[in-house]
Order: sequence, then structure tokens, then C-alpha cells
Amino acid sequence: MQIISAEVLVSSPGRNFVTLRLTTDDGLVGLGDATLNGRELAVVAYLTEHVVPLLLGRDAHRIEDTWQYLYRGAYWRRGPVTMAAISAVDTALWDLKARAAGLPLYQLLGGRSRVGCLTYGHASGADLPELFDSVRDHLEQGFRAIRIQTGIPGLGSVYGVASSANAAAGADGVTSRYDHEPARRSAAPVEEAWDTRAYLRHMPGVFEAVRNEFGPELPLLHDAHHRLTPIQAAKLGRSLEPFDLFWLEDVTPAENTAVLRRVREHTTTPLAIGEVFNTIWDYRELFEEQLVDYVRSPVTHAGGITPLRRIFDYASVYQIKSGVHGPTDISPVGLAASLHLGIAIPNFGIQEYMRHSAATDEVFRSGVTFVDGMLVPSEEPGLGVEYDDDVASRYEYAAAYLPVNRLLDGSVHDW
Ligand SMILES: [Mg+2]
Repeated sequence: MQIISAEVLVSSPGRNFVTLRLTTDDGLVGLGDATLNGRELAVVAYLTEHVVPLLLGRDAHRIEDTWQYLYRGAYWRRGPVTMAAISAVDTALWDLKARAAGLPLYQLLGGRSRVGCLTYGHASGADLPELFDSVRDHLEQGFRAIRIQTGIPGLGSVYGVASSANAAAGADGVTSRYDHEPARRSAAPVEEAWDTRAYLRHMPGVFEAVRNEFGPELPLLHDAHHRLTPIQAAKLGRSLEPFDLFWLEDVTPAENTAVLRRVREHTTTPLAIGEVFNTIWDYRELFEEQLVDYVRSPVTHAGGITPLRRIFDYASVYQIKSGVHGPTDISPVGLAASLHLGIAIPNFGIQEYMRHSAATDEVFRSGVTFVDGMLVPSEEPGLGVEYDDDVASRYEYAAAYLPVNRLLDGSVHDW
């Protein structure tokens, strides 16, 4: 099973996706997701210029050796561009191996450990009535766990909150009108305003209102987008304890994980982190000191299925579970890879799920199903995703950026 072709495919069915397609001498095709939201073409260049020439002629069965060759062999290790590129290769090789075996990929990872992967959806609203409508909409769609994001009085648009500007996303009949599409197509990022003290004052009342409206049982999540200092994060975690969150996500900037010690000292609200981490080493201190409860790394940005399986096994030693990042900038290929891994591992926790647009689902024909709030991977051999070149060619790349966040005095802030 020798690799004879490696193609880097870019398509933009509503948002930009980068896909690696490997073809072998026996006619098998494997796909990998290399999408890095807002920096897509950097990964295209990394793959095209430096990885594709090394893949041609290699034995596609040698997944571990290829991973080590691309990671250690490059000398320059880690970083989101490098790891998204390696991830696409690793995922495509697993897809190929499972197709060669005639088995759905999860069977090669130990087989099924559960009937499906429980998901959470994104409810949001500028105010409480809009937020409640969004929660009800998600419950009607079948979601059994819900992330809560709201506008903050006195601030304009807030990241993670759907607005009238993107309400048209519901027009395709698949994406909820309440889903927030994070990247906007423009020559430069949109800038948003932020005031942490206003946010900290507002959030406990939001969760109290949601609990009063929807009862004690519904699992609720919240994402702080890396915006808080350690003591602010501790305060938020403690103030939300009465509302029994499933998790509080990304409370502090990801570069300095040691600060979570301070947060942990003050609150029993479960913590999730890691969607911008790239390697197992980013988690070492967090796992060994048991500073977090859920791992957010997706297959697409952590270097593929091979290293993410290793991260989850390491996490399991400390009773830490998976909670994989899954917004719409993880392509259907990346999502399928996450589900094959999630259905197999012993310490699955929850899977983030924003529905892709109808246009995206036409480019990537995926056998994933959504039943009773759970996603279930395809029973087709491999990942169970097919890429349609004809449909993809209709959607040309267009620059798109995530917003930039500024404090009220104009300073650039974290998110
Ligand atoms: Mg997040």
C-alpha cells in the first residue's frame, strides 16, 4: 500500500476547509482534515512545500513511523501549523488502513465502548428571552447538553453569541438560526469590545435564570475564551457552583497552565481546557496535578489520531475525560475522526457539536448520524467520509478571520 498521490484540497462551502487526500497504488483513498481557522493557507504551504514530497512512495501502513518522521524528523516541532499538517497525514493514513481492512476505523482502535458520543450544542442570545429560545431550539433538535453564552449589558456583540448578522445561517434548513458562525469573511478581523468586570457581574444571574427555566437536570457548559486572570477565574467558578455546571472552559490564557492551580484551590466547578494545545506535553502539569477535568484537543490540531489516543490514555490515569473541540471549522473529516476515537476510548466525556451547513455536507458526504443527542460514526470502511471534487470546486477560498477582542480602553485582550 504505497502512497502514489498526495493532494491538498481547499474548498469554502460557507467557510474555509483544508483537506489532505492520499491515494495508494492499490487504488485506496484516505482523507485528513488540516483546517486551521483564520490561518488556512499557512497549512496548505506547509503540506505542499514540505510534507507532500516526503510522502510519495512511502508505505501507507506505517502510521507511527510516518508520524515520528514528520514530528521528530523536522527538528522544528509543535505549533498549530505543523501539528495541523501532521494531523492530516496521520488521519488520512488511519482512514487508509481501515479501508484496506474493510472496517470502520473505530474497530482498529479497540472497537465500540458505547452506543454513541454524547454531544453538547451552542445556545446563545443577546438577552435572556433570546437565550431561552435558543436553548428550546437545541432541545427540540435533540441536544441533551447545552453550552450557554450571552450578551453582556453595555457591550456590543460578544464572541460566541449569535446575532442578527448571522441569523441567516438557519436558511439552509440544517444550521440552527441560533448557531454562531465564528469566522467572518473579510479582509481583516472584526473587533469586539470586552469588559471582564461586567461579565463577572452578569453571568451568575444568567445561569440562575436558565436553571429556573429549564430545571436542575440539563447539563450546562460555559466557555470563558481565555479572558480571565487566575483570581477572576476562581471567582467565576465559585459564583457558578450553585448552578452545577458540567464544565467551565478555557478560563485563563493557555500559555500559562500553572495558573490553574490557583483556580482549582477556590472552586469545585469542573474545568476544561486544551482546544489550542498541540501536544501531549502541554497537558503534563495539568494531568499530573489533576488541575483539569476535560481535555479539549481535537484530532485536527493535536497531530492526529495517534497522539490524541496517547493523550486520552494519559488522561485516564487521572480520571480525566475527553471533551473534544468541535465547532464548524473542524471539517466533517476531523469530526468523523473524533467520533471514531470517542466511541472507542474508555474515558469519553462529551463531544462539542455545531452542525455544518448544507453546502459543507454536500462537499463532504459523511455517514455520521445524530440520534438522541449523540453522534454515531459511520459503519462504512475507514472514516466514512467522501470528498466531492465537483461540488467543492464551486466554493472558492475567501479570507475569513475570527474576531479580535479589545478592552474598553482599546487594548487588545485575550480570547
Ligand atoms: Mg472554546
